[in-house]
This record gives sequence, structure tokens and C-alpha cells, in this order.
Amino acid sequence: MLSPGLHHITAFSGDIRRTHDFYTRVLGLRLVKRTVNFDDPTSWHLYFGDETGSPGTVLTFFASEGEAQGVPGVGEAVTVSFAIPLHSALFWTERMADEGVSFALDQSGGGTVIVLHDPDGIGLELVEERTGGATAPHTSADIPTEWAIRGLSGTTLLVDDLDATARVLTDVFGWRETGRAELPGYMRRRYAMPGNKVPGARIELLKGEDLTPGTPGAGSIHHVAFRTTDDVAQAELVAALIKLGIETTPQLDRTYFRSVYFREPSGVLFEIATDGPGFSVDEPVETLGDDLKLPAQLEPRRQEIISALLGM
Ligand code: ZN
Repeated sequence: MLSPGLHHITAFSGDIRRTHDFYTRVLGLRLVKRTVNFDDPTSWHLYFGDETGSPGTVLTFFASEGEAQGVPGVGEAVTVSFAIPLHSALFWTERMADEGVSFALDQSGGGTVIVLHDPDGIGLELVEERTGGATAPHTSADIPTEWAIRGLSGTTLLVDDLDATARVLTDVFGWRETGRAELPGYMRRRYAMPGNKVPGARIELLKGEDLTPGTPGAGSIHHVAFRTTDDVAQAELVAALIKLGIETTPQLDRTYFRSVYFREPSGVLFEIATDGPGFSVDEPVETLGDDLKLPAQLEPRRQEIISALLGM
């Protein structure tokens, strides 16, 4: 039973054009899919990632007109960490300064982490990592390949039951605890996938005395998806969850992957998504993200959906 790492993270945007500009132009990710929330087609669903949207590189956004601001809190993921190559922090801090994006440097853990927020206030980290060649970074005119984001590094969850959340990570996904600390007002535990050969294999759990439950909305993270190779491996993970008394949704076809969802014991919405078939299933790699793509069941409503998305 294991999941090698994160598949994607999904958050809410309050302004889809601003979000698109920030993640594609400022951070240099590629828009790999332009679609709608399959469960609520009045909402955009944009996927950003590496050149092909490889599992472990993808951050996605739901965006509806007039989305109220959320308040991050317990039962949610509260940061998205991206992996950047070793020695690239200087490039990225100069770029953030040029863009007028506020940031702080955190070197308390040994390596260099650039801490910032996206335009909706989502906590982001750019973490210098020895990333190897696991992903095909997207390159743009002013971000050389050697400095480009390599994919997800991990995420931080605010939890109220450290042990129960940790059991899902260790007993179901096969991750290992890599550290724990008692900080003033906080308890922190860190988990990673042994070997860490793929992007997005690091999770931090924080439990704090004064933390309150989150309210979903713009600037908050909706769910965290973990990778699985195929339907058989996914079913084994579901069986392992049932042993912990956790039920999942039935499998849902998301066109680009097949998913089950569940709330882990502290309330964070988790998804288990298959690696395939991937984003080139309905358009060529060269033109990923250019056109609005709809699943077959929504295609007959294309005009109505576009009108609603554009507020017409
Ligand atoms: Zn998802």
C-alpha cells in the first residue's frame, strides 16, 4: 500500500485572470488544461503544471464570479510548496522583487525557502531541492530552464488530531515521519515518502492551541490529491482506508485521471487520483490549455456554460 507523492493541489481563486497571470507569467508554470468544475460547471477549473502536467507538478484552481474570500484554518491545507533547483533562490528573489511581490527567506531548516503569498493570499513556498530529472519544467522567455519550478514540493495541513491524520499518511500511503517539534503554541510533525524520487512527497502537520476551523473561499485550498498508479492500486488504498474506518466516494471519472475522495480524520479533503490517462487525452501536448475542454456529459451545454462563465 503506498502513494509515491502528491498528484495535485486544488485551491479557490477570486480572480481567474489575475491567477492565470501570476502562475504562468510570474512563476512560469504552464496552463495545461482549461475546463470547468465537473460538479459545478458555473466555475472555471484551470490546471497549471510542468510541460505536460505530470502528476506531482500540478496546482489547480476553481474560480467563480464573486467568490468570497476564505479564511484558512483547521481542516485545510494552508500552503503550496514548489520545488526549485539548488542555488536558484537568488534568481527567484530578484524576480519577486522586480514583480513587487513581498517575500521572506527562511533558512531555519538548513536549506533555503522563499515564503510568499499568491494574489488571493494563499501561502506559497519556493523550496530549494535536489530535484533530479523527474519532471519536464515549462520554460518561458524570461525564466531559464535551469531555474524553472520542478513541481510540487509538498504542503502543510492544519489538523486537530495529529495521530489520526498521521495514520492515514503512514498506514495507508506508506509515508514515514521525518521529524517532530514542539514550538510555542504549536506541535509540528513532518512526513515524507521514503526515497523521495518524485515531486511532491513532503507533508507537514501543524496543530496549534489557538487555531480555528477554516472557511472555504478565495485564497483557501480545497483539497490535496495523492497519486496512485492505476485502478487496482487505488482500490487497495480504499480497502486500507476502510480498515481505519474511513469511507471514500465511489470512483469518479475526471477525464484526465480517475479519483476517489474522502475527509481524513482532521477534516482535510483528500483525493486519490490515478496517474493516467493525463492531460493529452483530449488535446495534443503542443496546444494544452489553449481551448475550453468539457467532459462528454457537459459538451451539449457548451454555449450555456460559456455564457455563464463569461457572465453574459
Ligand atoms: Zn482534485
